[in-house]
Amino acid sequence: MKISSIRARVFEWTGPTVPPQSHFCANAMDLIYEPPRVGPEEDTMRTFRFHGWTVVEVQTDDGLVGLGNVALAPRIAKQIIDQYLAPLVLGHDPWDYEYLNQRMYRAIHAWGRKGVGMAAISAVDIALWDLLGKSTGKPVFKLLGGRTKERIPCYYSKLYRTDLKAMQEEASRFLAQGFRAFKMRFGYGPAHGQQGVVENLKAVEAVREVIGYDNDLMLECYMGWNLEYARRMLPRLERFEPRWLEEPVIADDIDGYAELGRRFNIPISGGEHEFSLYGFKQLLERGAVSVVQYDTNRVGGITMAHKINALCEAYSVPVIPHAGQMHNYHLTMSTLASPMSEYFPMHEVEVGNELFYYIFRGEPVAEGGFLQLDDHRPGLGLELRDDYLDQFRIIE
Ligand SMILES: [Mg+2]
Repeated sequence: MKISSIRARVFEWTGPTVPPQSHFCANAMDLIYEPPRVGPEEDTMRTFRFHGWTVVEVQTDDGLVGLGNVALAPRIAKQIIDQYLAPLVLGHDPWDYEYLNQRMYRAIHAWGRKGVGMAAISAVDIALWDLLGKSTGKPVFKLLGGRTKERIPCYYSKLYRTDLKAMQEEASRFLAQGFRAFKMRFGYGPAHGQQGVVENLKAVEAVREVIGYDNDLMLECYMGWNLEYARRMLPRLERFEPRWLEEPVIADDIDGYAELGRRFNIPISGGEHEFSLYGFKQLLERGAVSVVQYDTNRVGGITMAHKINALCEAYSVPVIPHAGQMHNYHLTMSTLASPMSEYFPMHEVEVGNELFYYIFRGEPVAEGGFLQLDDHRPGLGLELRDDYLDQFRIIE
């Protein structure tokens, strides 16, 4: 089996979207001065949307097609795949995945060892693994270690900061569907002063009121705080018994993560914006995170994520990948290091995480707070859907 073609296409959503709301989710841009904008409501989501996706199809000479994807900087990812990665992989046997992963990683190392370069490598690597599954007639998780769980527990991940009543209704709706764990987003950070502190606390209280203390609550900062603000917030949050507090500061402030984890009684999670085996080695060695949240379509693909799983197992740090989605679910199913998955519910297009459902068919739907993977479905179990194609701009 030899790779005969690689096609990277960008899918940009042009269909209807949920309008932006203020304080929807704190993010790293909140901390810097922005010139006043002309327009309706203050759009705090402007740097927090992912309305494009790169879809990679790797075809072999025996007619199989493997599917991979990138959700970061999709137009740039496509350029990297077309210009740099495709020539390194074409003509090779997908079973040489370790060699091919190293080949891509080392070839673009000077500029691509973190960020979009790694995301582009991930997409190709994910497509290779999809091919391996399809060529053997087995699901990818069976090639990685097989089934370690009867089914995958998952946590409900949405609860963006809106009106508190609306957040409570959302939590109660998904509690009724059987979810036992919920992640909510903070809407306020250092720029919003003490009033923002109070608003953040009110929101946590409101959600806890609905889900009680016999369910898990995760808190997401999405890098929208700084260390000083986190030091003020964490003692006030301890009483809500969060399962973890996610990305309190920017991803590069590893010492900041480590300090918060040491000083306060709240596990700190991160890794959604970290890359490669070495990036995770650093996080673990420095005790920066109590939960690792890599995304397979960022870290270097399934080949790399599999190694990171082994590293986390040795450190006894659980892996709960960012975003759920098939490329992560297969890894979660195949390792004891990973106790559960994140789960974005299917939703009208808003942040963009939900776009995955509009591009691919085959994503499992949670039932009673659990996900299932099919033991007999080859590869990742995804195919491209065509019923929303008229709502995408597709860049070939
Ligand atoms: Mg996150």
